[in-house]
Amino acid sequence: MAIIFDIKRFAVHDGPGIRTTVFMKGCPLRCAWCHNPESISSAICEVPKTVRIGDKTFTENETVGREMSVDELMKELQKEKVFMNESGGGVTFSGGEPMLQHEFLNNSLDACKAAGMHTAVDTSGYVRWKLLEETARRTDLFLYDLKLMDDKKHQKYTGASNKIILENLPKLLETGKKVRIRIPFVPEVTFTKENIQQTLQFLSGLPQQPEEIDLLPYHNTASHKYERFGMENIFEGKKSLSKKNLENVQLLFEKAGFNVKIGG
Ligand code: SF4
Repeated sequence: MAIIFDIKRFAVHDGPGIRTTVFMKGCPLRCAWCHNPESISSAICEVPKTVRIGDKTFTENETVGREMSVDELMKELQKEKVFMNESGGGVTFSGGEPMLQHEFLNNSLDACKAAGMHTAVDTSGYVRWKLLEETARRTDLFLYDLKLMDDKKHQKYTGASNKIILENLPKLLETGKKVRIRIPFVPEVTFTKENIQQTLQFLSGLPQQPEEIDLLPYHNTASHKYERFGMENIFEGKKSLSKKNLENVQLLFEKAGFNVKIGG
C-alpha cells in the first residue's frame, strides 16, 4: 500500500505524450518554493476547504492523501491507456518524492511494464544510490531535479545537502537510462548568474548527456495552498517568471550543446 494524494489525468508536462501522473505523499526535502506543499508530510491529513455558493461561505474538512494498493492504482491507470497508447505517453510517478515509498513504486513500475505502459519517475535524487539503481531497472525515464549547486544555499532553501543528489546523477546516466533534468528557476535563489553558471559547469562534466534539460519558471500559483495548509511561505508576494525571462538561459545551455526546453 502507498499514500497517494492526487492522480492527474491528461498531463502533458511530465514526460512524453499524454500521461497520467501519480502524486505520492512524503518528501525528505523542504523546498521553500514547493508547488505541492501538501505533498511534503507523509501522513494523510485533514485540511479546511472553503466553498462559496452565492453569498454564503461553507467550510468543510478535506482529506489529503489516501491509501492505495498497486491493483487499485492499476485499475485507475487502465482507464487512460488508450490516450497513452495513441500519444506515445504513459505514467509518471511524482510527489512529493516517489522514491520514499520505493517498494510500492517498484511494484507499480513492474505492473505498468507488464501492462505495456511507458513509465517515468520524477525524483529529487535525494535517495540512497542502491534504491535508485533498483528503480532504474524498472523505469523508462527519469525526470531529475537540480536546484542549487552551492551546498550551503541548497541546505538553506531545501533543508538538505545536495551532495547525494549530485553524486547520484552521473551514476544514473552511466546506467544508460534516459534522464531529463528539471531546473526550477526561482528569482534571487536558483535564478542567479552564479547558480546558472555552476549548473552549466556541472552538467558539462557529466559522463553522458541528459536527453533534455527543462527550465521551469517559478510561478506563485501555490500561494493559496500555503495559506490553506497553515505553512510559512517565505516567497509570499514574489513575482512569477515568464518563459521570456528564461530565453537567455536557454540560449546559454543550447550553446553548450544541450537539448533545452522551457517548461516541463
Ligand atoms: S523536492 Fe519537490 S516535492 Fe519535495 S519539497 Fe522540493 S519541490 Fe516539493
